Amino acid sequence: MGNRLDFNNVTTDPISLASHNEISTHVLRIDKLNPVISGNKWFKLRFYIDEARAAGKKGILTFGGAWSNHIVATAAICRDSGLSSIGIIRGEEPANPSPTLIQAREMGMHLFFTIRIDYTKRGIPPSITAEDYLIVEEGGYGRTGANGASTIFEYVKGDYTHYCCAVGTGTMMAGLINGAMSSQVVTGISVMKNNMDLENSVQRLVSNNVRWEILHDYHFGGYAKKTNTLLDFMNAFFRDHQVPLDFVYTGKLFYAVANLIRANYFPPGSRLLLIHSGGLQGNRSLLPGTLIFQ
Ligand SMILES: *Cc1c(COP(=O)(O)O)cnc(C)c1O
Repeated sequence: MGNRLDFNNVTTDPISLASHNEISTHVLRIDKLNPVISGNKWFKLRFYIDEARAAGKKGILTFGGAWSNHIVATAAICRDSGLSSIGIIRGEEPANPSPTLIQAREMGMHLFFTIRIDYTKRGIPPSITAEDYLIVEEGGYGRTGANGASTIFEYVKGDYTHYCCAVGTGTMMAGLINGAMSSQVVTGISVMKNNMDLENSVQRLVSNNVRWEILHDYHFGGYAKKTNTLLDFMNAFFRDHQVPLDFVYTGKLFYAVANLIRANYFPPGSRLLLIHSGGLQGNRSLLPGTLIFQ
């Protein structure tokens, strides 16, 4: 039983984020591709799978945290592709593993916890024959990941002045920049506090002159941090649009764009496409009842 990818579900829907300056907003629902291989993770991983196969590798080895969307997506994609997968998880093995890790394990991923092992260089446990695996950086960062993310444009319908996305490693953003037209702008919202390396990380993967900018003021305290303002916004947004957001990435993106519209950041008449990059499984780390759509 595989994880069916529902490409027909990937729609571009109008939303009303803030009525101001005749700015229009649409959302690209790549979150609806699949509940496990959610959103941008499939796009970022697709060509790594091809690469692993072409190189005759047994599988993919990658890195992440206990609630990582990338870890669970890698486990699912590898299983469906007949490849094995190894996840190197930051920290100590928790007494009660997160649903993310349980699910990754159920899909056949072998998990190693960083505190428990003496690492060889590149953080690979000595019991693993590294050559058997394609090593994929945390979050799928790299050119192969960005090239996959550029194929998000196959599903973009309509004519936009700006693409707006949440930024973790910057791989998806680089893919969007590389696939955009020179008249367009890509606006990224960093979900981390003061990650000032991000511009360099993105630039390393960019191959054109499209305008782009990363904003660093919408982290809500830092990576995977949240405030009641953010959670209230997500609940209100769901009430108004029936679109669920996650608190690590897309909640911060949508909140930021609503604010930026009101602050006249976008020129009047701009047509914005917000990328709903998925990640909803991460909401399982919240206490039940925190979100009205959990
Ligand atoms: C992983 C993730 C991102 C970040 O993508 P990067 O390519 O690492 O910047 C954004 N949104 C969601 C929902 C994610 O799961």
